[in-house]
This record gives sequence, C-alpha cells and structure tokens, in this order.
Amino acid sequence: MKSQRSSFKYLIAVVSLAVFASGCSTTPTGRKQLTLKSDATLAAESTRAMAQLRATSALITDRATIDYVACVADAIVGTLDDEDAALYWEMAIVNNPEVNAFVMPGGKIVVKSGIMSVAKNQHQLAAVLGHEVAHVTANHANERATRSDLTGFGIEVLAAVLVGDSANYYSRNYDPNMASGVYGAAGTFGQLGLLNPFSRMQESEADDIGLIYMAKAGFDPREAVTLWQNMNSSSETTKIPEFLSTHPSGDTRIESMVSQLPQALALYNEAQANGLNPDCQP
Ligand SMILES: [Zn+2]
Repeated sequence: MKSQRSSFKYLIAVVSLAVFASGCSTTPTGRKQLTLKSDATLAAESTRAMAQLRATSALITDRATIDYVACVADAIVGTLDDEDAALYWEMAIVNNPEVNAFVMPGGKIVVKSGIMSVAKNQHQLAAVLGHEVAHVTANHANERATRSDLTGFGIEVLAAVLVGDSANYYSRNYDPNMASGVYGAAGTFGQLGLLNPFSRMQESEADDIGLIYMAKAGFDPREAVTLWQNMNSSSETTKIPEFLSTHPSGDTRIESMVSQLPQALALYNEAQANGLNPDCQP
C-alpha cells in the first residue's frame, strides 16, 4: 500500500509539471506539437537513463556486430542537419532476443540484438534505425508525455510507473499487481520516454521521416518494405513491442511506405550519384 501511495504523489507531481512547463515545437514534417520540457533537460535525463541501462543490461560485446550497427547508425545520423546533427548520439546494443529497438530524447538509441532476426541486411537495419532516429528528431517522447488531456496523461504515467518494464507494457499483458515493487525503476522522468508507447500518428510520422533518412544515407528504401514483410511473417510478431503493438498494422504500414517510395527512391538515387554507398555489412 505504501508504494501505491508514493506512486500517486509522483503522478500528481508530474501532472503539475506538465501544466507548468508545456511549450511548442515543430516536427521535421512541419507538424506543430506541444512539448513538456526543454530539450536540454530531457537530454540530460536520457543521458542518466542510458548510463543506467549500460550498467544494468547485458550488452553485445562482439566487435563485428557493434561495428556493423554503428556503421549504419552513423550513416543515418550523417544525414541530419543543424541541432539534430549536434545531439550527442549514443547507442547501446543489448543482448536480448526481443525484436525491438527504442530511443530516448537527446539521441540515445537502444537496439536489442533480436532485431537482427528480421532486419536481415544493412538496408533493413537502416530502416529500423531511420525510424528510431526520426522519433528523436520529431521530439516524440517529449510530445507523447503531454499529448493527452490530463486524465489520459495521468493514466499513462501511472501505467509506466507501475509497470517499469517496457516489454510488458507494450504487449498489454502486464499485471499491475505484479508491479508494485518496480516503482523505483521508473522513477526518473527520462524513463517515461522509454516506457510509454508511441501513438499511431507518431509511428506513421517516424516511418515517413525514417524512410527519407535511410534513402538520403544511400540505403535502398525498398528494403524497408521487405523489413515490414519480415516483421509480419515473423513468428515473434506477438513479442514485437514498439513496432507493431498499438500502431498501424503491418499491412497498413507497408501500403503507406510503398506510396512514399517514389520520393524516397529519388533521394536514394541522388545519394548514390553523390557517392553515398554505405558498406556496413560485416
Ligand atoms: Zn516507432
């Protein structure tokens, strides 16, 4: 009971903060959004959360894998401009069979090694990382914390606090009664960016922007479609959290991606003509 009470206090504190500190910004697609905190504040919180993740997770130490993923991530980040390029981009590859990747504000990318079972080549991995980088450049974690009315927001925050485990939360199979002991694990605000699922609108936006990023970097955008086909046919589908759970169905995403392909292919051809032809595959 005690932990329930402190969760509630925490909830009130966060909701008050939301009312007090909301601001405005714009995503790379030009969509206006409400945001909660300054980018600098969120980035500092993410840096702490990332350090904590590094200290407590089993990380991949195989050099070839690290170089491969870092090569693709570097190529994607290399397409960014201005303040997005200036972020301190950092990545961790967690040794975990889950088909998942996620980001935290300020340029922290976390890849779970299970993603390699569906991202079968550098282009498909670029589709994953482009999508994740787009969540960062579009401020989705910050926006997501404030997008609902206060009631909705409170419920989301409470769910995050109670669960403290992104996989359980995303799969919607979590048992709040099981989670009373994990309040502390979700105690930093930065972790909300990690725990709450993105909205359908944000997922579509990350797909669109991510496709542009990968094409600009010289990765074949047609492979993003193949990636989604792999995701759809994967027996791991029910365990795919961030990519498929509450979001557009795989088929919808494929259709939407196909409709974006002409624009992406033009950028891809331009990148190739400019000599951008990444060779990351180990
Ligand atoms: Zn996403």
